[in-house]
Amino acid sequence: MTNIEKSDSEWRDSLTPEQYEVARCGGTERAFTGKYWDCKTPGTYVCIGCGADLFDSEAKYDSGSGWPSFWAAISDQAITEHRDTSYGMVRTEVVCAKCNSHLGHLFPDGPKPTGMRYCINSASLDLKEKA
Ligand code: FE
Repeated sequence: MTNIEKSDSEWRDSLTPEQYEVARCGGTERAFTGKYWDCKTPGTYVCIGCGADLFDSEAKYDSGSGWPSFWAAISDQAITEHRDTSYGMVRTEVVCAKCNSHLGHLFPDGPKPTGMRYCINSASLDLKEKA
């Protein structure tokens, strides 16, 4: 897999200010404000930074959190996990494996079959609807 190398100004030019803040600066959109938290449209969620496939709508569920939530990524290779100790919490940050864009966090309180919750910012995603 080829990693994406872009300068900061290239990232700024290719994303909206909110997408840049979330995907490239590790920001978090406010709950219940994003484009996809309540979206039930079938399709594939791809990375806003590089277009890589990240999540299938089949794994999306309503966590009540106000962010798009998935119980699995589309593949183990799609996502990289990092230990995140910011804000006095120990969390697992998830980023796009291909372009390193910040996606959200992973929590072990999801539904079956995985028991995992990928809590993802809408701003880091683009939904490719099923044709
Ligand atoms: Fe990406």
